[in-house]
Amino acid sequence: MSSRSDTRAEAFRLLPSIEELLHDPRLEPLGRGLAREVWLDFLRELIERWRAEVKAGTLDASALSARLAGTALVDELRLRVERERRAGIVRVVNATGVVLHTGLGRAPVHAEAAAAMGRIAGSYCVLEVDRESGERNQRDDRLSELLRRMTGAEAGIVVNNCAAAAYLLLNTFLKRGQRDEVIVSRGELVEIGGSFRVPDVMERAGVVLREVGTTNRTRLSDYRNAAGERTALLMKVHTSNFRVEGFTEEVTPTELAVLGREIGLPTAFDLGSGLIEGDDVRPLPEVMGDEPRVRDAVASGVDVVCFSGDKLFGGPQSGLIVGKRAAIAALRKNPVYRALRLDKVTIAGLERSLELYLAGRGDEIPARAMLRATADELRPRAEKLAAALGKLPGCRAEVIPERSQPGSGAAPGVFLPTFVVRLTHARLKAAAFAAALRRSEPPAFVRVQDDALLCDPRSLLPGDDELLVESVRSVCAS
Ligand SMILES: *Cc1c(COP(=O)(O)O)cnc(C)c1O
Repeated sequence: MSSRSDTRAEAFRLLPSIEELLHDPRLEPLGRGLAREVWLDFLRELIERWRAEVKAGTLDASALSARLAGTALVDELRLRVERERRAGIVRVVNATGVVLHTGLGRAPVHAEAAAAMGRIAGSYCVLEVDRESGERNQRDDRLSELLRRMTGAEAGIVVNNCAAAAYLLLNTFLKRGQRDEVIVSRGELVEIGGSFRVPDVMERAGVVLREVGTTNRTRLSDYRNAAGERTALLMKVHTSNFRVEGFTEEVTPTELAVLGREIGLPTAFDLGSGLIEGDDVRPLPEVMGDEPRVRDAVASGVDVVCFSGDKLFGGPQSGLIVGKRAAIAALRKNPVYRALRLDKVTIAGLERSLELYLAGRGDEIPARAMLRATADELRPRAEKLAAALGKLPGCRAEVIPERSQPGSGAAPGVFLPTFVVRLTHARLKAAAFAAALRRSEPPAFVRVQDDALLCDPRSLLPGDDELLVESVRSVCAS
């Protein structure tokens, strides 16, 4: 026992101090170019990690001496510095085939929208001032106008995301102490992506949830019977990420709107993904199944409709709300709006995206173009990719038929036929290969299935095919 604690004490003594590491000539080139605070952090982390090993008895004095004398010290710190260089938001190649991939930033905006966002970020802009009169105005006056034209609604207002939109409208229609109940179908109390649960958002917004109907069937009479003195709002939520099949019944937005008018209560419809189709916008074909359309939701007569800007709409992250003029005005008057409103950069991207739709160029929006691509169109891209990837050392590539997913809770149960490159490596197992691609330059994300990588051209942007080959090349060369 005593000899063990002796060597432990010896190991503790051997642990270098920050000061010693700072003056170690072997480490000096690694720390160069890093902010001093960052470098100190890394050194502290390393010493703490080793100290914990000594404490746990997994690192004794002789092993520690070996680490200090050998390359372990330099190697560990080099890995840490490299990890730091890869950290943060960087551009990646998305070869997963998931078009609206929340982990990879959902919809990539149209190049013209991206350019507008870049320009506005680095300059002053006309945000809350009227160019004609020089008077103050609202930052989203023009957005409201564009949304009105595109959706047929009377007005619109825009916030940070659809979760914020739902929060704002619940919070606005609530009359604290008088009318604080919101009636929702039990079948529509959905959870989207783990952090957005309809019941939780309602509670936080200060409203009391009144569930009606059952998981599979809700009738108009259920809403009617539940509505009373305390009811603030009748709400419908699109079950974006799942589908109930079989013996089901739900109330249409039109029926809900009629009931709302009859009993004098406001009505809202949280659409989630927001499929835009209309006179100038070709429908996304059967691909989208029975995903509700924004125009239909507005035409149903509900007071407000909300949807995400970065799902099927294909714009920057935002929550778009359209509906009756009075209802939108009430949302804008709510002081909470101030905390949820958009910044100039996102407004610029949204305006440009809406203008593209209105100019009949909606098909150019990247997310929509990707969702529309047919297997026949994707096959030559997969073949070209396979030819390039198959030439790389250790790689085997073949083209196989597969199915891609829209992603982000849009159109559940919808799978889009595609062709993918099935890629394997002579030495690397699929999981290690995928991890190396994520860390490579440029970084690439692929699907791993049955011990192979699947590279789906559906979610590749123009130019990404070459970047993907570059990424695989860099992994194979190392
Ligand atoms: C996705 C979704 C949301 C959340 O949208 P975000 O823009 O991600 O905040 C809310 N409601 C429904 C029905 C959705 O599908």
